[in-house]
Amino acid sequence: MSADPKFARIAIIGLGLIGGSLGYAVKRGKLADHVVGYATSEATRRRALELGFIDSAAANLAEAVSDADLVVLCTPVGALGDVATAIEKHLKKGAILTDAGSVKTAVIRDVGPFVPEGVSFIPGHPIAGTEQSGPDAGFAELFDGRWCILTPVPGTDRAALAKLTAFWEACGSKVDVMEPKHHDLVLAIVSHLPHLIAYNIVGTADDLETVTESEVIKYSAGGFRDFTRLASSDPTMWRDICLNNKDAILEMLGRFSEDLSAMQRMIRWGDGEGLFALFTRTRAVRRAIIDAGQDVSAPNFGRTPGQAGPGGGRG
Ligand code: NAP
Repeated sequence: MSADPKFARIAIIGLGLIGGSLGYAVKRGKLADHVVGYATSEATRRRALELGFIDSAAANLAEAVSDADLVVLCTPVGALGDVATAIEKHLKKGAILTDAGSVKTAVIRDVGPFVPEGVSFIPGHPIAGTEQSGPDAGFAELFDGRWCILTPVPGTDRAALAKLTAFWEACGSKVDVMEPKHHDLVLAIVSHLPHLIAYNIVGTADDLETVTESEVIKYSAGGFRDFTRLASSDPTMWRDICLNNKDAILEMLGRFSEDLSAMQRMIRWGDGEGLFALFTRTRAVRRAIIDAGQDVSAPNFGRTPGQAGPGGGRG
């Protein structure tokens, strides 16, 4: 029998895209009697209340977590250590503490030492997002059909893990359990590297002197436009991911550079067969993603002229 996904009181710390979407998903599934929220700025707390994805806004972190049965940290990764020190003495015995951070070993390093006896700390990462941020970016369906990876630490209470799994499933997710270091390596290739490539190519185009900026924008439908979606993602979040998943990202960047050099060589030596074989192999990867229900098969991500396509799994 699966565990009860409901909690009496849930605290969401960080009320942006992820915290907001979680609040909406909790409301949709009636997964809590009360949702309390906290974000740094008064403006965000007020907006979250107006939008209705939290029931009350706490004045500080201590107040937010003090009576909560589930605490979900949805701030940028770089803020999690400070948040953990501020809530340490106020977490309720028996509570589950989790997060949505895009890296996991660094979060365990920064938060783990501040988890008091009697509180179950189960790091997590919903593989869902868009390039937008802030409380207005959230929506209830964000997690539907997307994976959420939980990376329990040694000694994790099995009942707490089962309850958190049931919670994410009730929010629409499919749940996988993974070793934290492996999570960081997998995410480095499926999420972090694509974002870095996008940031880089958009930066390169912006630096060009022989092609004008207006030409880059005018002809962006040639492929460039798809990179700009990723490259418009929140700078704070992505700075924190780069600083906190350094080893895995450098490993993947190294492999990428080697493969790029190989491709450069194929072009230089006119190796059409090699290029054709590579492009055929990569096309099959796209097919597999569509078959797994992780994207739509419609051309151009289902965009019609003048309309933006759906956001993919991110972060
Ligand atoms: P976001 O939209 O920028 O929201 C971040 C929220 O955190 C804001 O409400 C901000 O408050 C609050 N915050 C920042 N520092 C804080 C602190 N010290 N104490 C309390 N609140 C604080 O970010 P997001 O996209 O939701 O991302 C949140 C987390 O989810 C990140 O760790 C990210 O790595 C992870 N994630 C993101 C995605 C994605 O695609 N975006 C996907 C999966 C996981 P103010 O509004 O007052 O500044």
